[in-house]
Amino acid sequence: MNKRVAIIGAGVVGASAAYELSKDPSIDLTIYDEGTGQGTSAAAGIISPWLSRRRNKKWYVMVKEGAAFYPDFLSEVMQGKEIPSSVYRKVGTLLFKKKPEYLTEMLEIGEKRRLDAPEIGELAILTADEIREKIPVYKGENSALWASGGARVDGGRLVELLLSRAVENGAAVIRKKARFKRADQGYSVLTDHSEDSFESVILSAAAWLPDLLDPEGYDVDIRPQKGQLAEVQLSDHQTENWPVIMPEGEADIIPFEDGKVVIGATHENDKGFNLTIDEELVSTLIDDAAAFFSTELHQASITSYRVGTRAYTSDFAPFFGEVPDLPNVYAASGLGSTGLTAGPLVGKCLADLVRKISPLLPVEDYPIADYVKKKELT
Ligand SMILES: Cc1cc2nc3c(=O)[nH]c(=O)nc-3n(C[C@H](O)[C@H](O)[C@H](O)COP(=O)(O)OP(=O)(O)OC[C@H]3O[C@@H](n4cnc5c(N)ncnc54)[C@H](O)[C@@H]3O)c2cc1C
Repeated sequence: MNKRVAIIGAGVVGASAAYELSKDPSIDLTIYDEGTGQGTSAAAGIISPWLSRRRNKKWYVMVKEGAAFYPDFLSEVMQGKEIPSSVYRKVGTLLFKKKPEYLTEMLEIGEKRRLDAPEIGELAILTADEIREKIPVYKGENSALWASGGARVDGGRLVELLLSRAVENGAAVIRKKARFKRADQGYSVLTDHSEDSFESVILSAAAWLPDLLDPEGYDVDIRPQKGQLAEVQLSDHQTENWPVIMPEGEADIIPFEDGKVVIGATHENDKGFNLTIDEELVSTLIDDAAAFFSTELHQASITSYRVGTRAYTSDFAPFFGEVPDLPNVYAASGLGSTGLTAGPLVGKCLADLVRKISPLLPVEDYPIADYVKKKELT
């Protein structure tokens, strides 16, 4: 008999796990996703983890391997067809720093990191005129560090693609809020319309993991962070191959195809799960981007706003693995502001754990037991 597996939460982590598991004919797979506040479909889309000063080495391994995993993963998902540029493209990254000496420092860090991360590609400090060769509308006079291996991804489209492949492979997708509980054999997953039993469950519910595990008696060290951004339309420009622009501050600029440019994002720690768009706050991001980069961004029309919730642990480290004392229940969370980068690889790792295969990332380096604990009895 086939093994029955449920996935609760289909952002990039759950959808990637779903795609992986759906390829296995011995697994019957059901995916539950409610969708509200999803981080993945709100994300800016930057895949460029190498030029960070963050010191957590295990986090760095996760995001570095996550970025390296993307191209082969997507080639396989596309079954040999070209990866659509609207989903993912390696366009390179331009990193700006206020002080020129910081650029030299980051170049040195990048060159060291390239020894075991060749995906970073070519590194160079470009002058303003050299930047204009790549992005004609750049009006600034600052230099920037160029890394040719940086990429951009549309999280919402990526999830759609992965789930559509999973469905083609026979998986069921239920767009409902779900909860789970222990059953006589395995686990029950319930929505307001259904109850089904499973041998194994993946909880890829990011900021909402505490809600899923609370009824089973767990405290989960995860807090939400609100992020907002704007999508603008730059008419009359071929933006498809423009690099991702990372100035200092929050206003990153991520050009996509056909003049679509994403500007964001905010990092709001005091808003909980609030999903209200604060147009005034987002317009300050656009002002910053326009002042720094090109006043054309001021003339561009805002086509949409996006808002989502990131998930953070108290020490900012991500985790994944089997939930303590819940055999065959696996979870991941705490991917913070780099979860789109790490997501496909973390999803594959969860799928590997379900199949009892040793995952590509060492599970002991991301210990779930440090963040998911049985409530103390009072
Ligand atoms: C504004 C913004 C910009 C960002 N930019 C970047 C970036 O440029 N680069 C980068 O690497 N990362 C970025 N991130 C971070 C990244 O988006 C997240 O870390 C990542 O998407 C998390 O993926 P996930 O699958 O763990 O969770 P999510 O994408 O949040 O998905 C969790 C899903 O679970 C569902 N769910 C929860 N509970 C239930 C339930 N009970 N039943 C059913 N479904 C449920 C939710 O509705 C949601 O759809 C950004 C995030 C935000 C918000």
